[in-house]
Amino acid sequence: MKILILNAGSSSLKYSLFDMAAGHTVLLSGLIERIGEADAGHRYRIGASDPLQQPLSCDHHRDALQALFALLTETVLPDLSELAAVGHRVVHGGEFFREPALIERQVIAHIEAAIPLAPLHNPANLLGIEETLRLLPTVPQIAVFDTAFHQTLPDYAFRYPLPGRLYTEHGVRRYGFHGTSHAYVAKQAAKHLGKPLAETNLITLHLGNGASVAAIAGGVSIDTSMGMTPLEGLMMGSRCGDIDPAIAFYLARTLGMELDAIDKLYNKASGCLGVCGENDMRAIHAKAEQGDDSARLALAMYAYRIKKYIGAYYAVLGRLDALVFTGGIGENDAWLRQTCCVGLTALGIAVDPAQNAAPAKPAATISPPGAEVAVTVIATNEELEIATQTAECLTRGASTAGDAAKSPCSAAPITE
Ligand code: ADP
Repeated sequence: MKILILNAGSSSLKYSLFDMAAGHTVLLSGLIERIGEADAGHRYRIGASDPLQQPLSCDHHRDALQALFALLTETVLPDLSELAAVGHRVVHGGEFFREPALIERQVIAHIEAAIPLAPLHNPANLLGIEETLRLLPTVPQIAVFDTAFHQTLPDYAFRYPLPGRLYTEHGVRRYGFHGTSHAYVAKQAAKHLGKPLAETNLITLHLGNGASVAAIAGGVSIDTSMGMTPLEGLMMGSRCGDIDPAIAFYLARTLGMELDAIDKLYNKASGCLGVCGENDMRAIHAKAEQGDDSARLALAMYAYRIKKYIGAYYAVLGRLDALVFTGGIGENDAWLRQTCCVGLTALGIAVDPAQNAAPAKPAATISPPGAEVAVTVIATNEELEIATQTAECLTRGASTAGDAAKSPCSAAPITE
């Protein structure tokens, strides 16, 4: 079964073609960037080949898709009708989707209705969907949502202590993101531990440019650090994470900052970048090693804030089988993994320095033998998770769209 995964951004198109029958082999993967600009570019790999490049004139997402389909037919998929499905990454499914959905008119309407919740991402995701439907009208298209995995949060975890009508009328609540990554590593962690997922309690830490943590009880997400937007929670590369909401009022009243400037400050100029002038973790370490105090502070804050969430989510879960590190930082930064876990032996959490130094890929335990909680490093694979969920949805043949009469901002329960 061949499945094409598409992740359409405002000026980019990322893709992977999987052969699900052949051990989930990636046949072709690539990125078309700067769509609409004079210097649009297309980088790709055929299987595990070295990266290749193609010149591209690309005014619109349709041109990008046409270039991709031409490349597919020239290389690994001469007949596009062999595609079993296209799986689209969609950032926000509001309250309508707790599972992937076969795309039809009503599903598109729900994704459109969630645009106010993800104004930068959902329109681009929709553009990818609409153009693909136009170019491949006979191939089933499936939407896989970043928010879906966290739709199992109980109301006391997803509600904000704000007036109720802001939730019921305007959808102001916590949704959570990185759902495909948390879902994927949870499954892999259970497999690695040799336990059924339904009996496994986990804290999963996705630490990349964006970062989030999830508390997973019996395979089900019961809390997560990102909220109504991906700004809440952990300190990130350039996002502030949890701060006093009143700082915005202070900035507006005393510095005269406009809303858009505060938005930009919180999302693009805060986090590690704001504290030490770097957002790439490798550059922060290099700066700290050269004796830069702001870089040392950024590292200490980054680790401290993760540790606070580990403690909080341990309390939420009551019993923990494993702590899972993933994402570019989680998978590669031994210092960070060690530092987040210092002083947690009372919770049964400890890191073995030798195991931590170079954990085997794609899954390794880095806690000492016999430790109460397994500390693990699991390589995430969001594309494969989207492909797997797409294949499962295709097999089920049903969408899980909610009640069409309700807006995704409503408090309506999800119908399955
Ligand atoms: P994205 O969220 O964009 O997918 P990634 O998951 O690829 O990002 O993570 C990017 C982050 O991973 C960057 O901060 C990068 O510095 C960090 N990273 C990658 N390799 C290492 C490493 N060996 N040590 C520390 N950090 C690393």
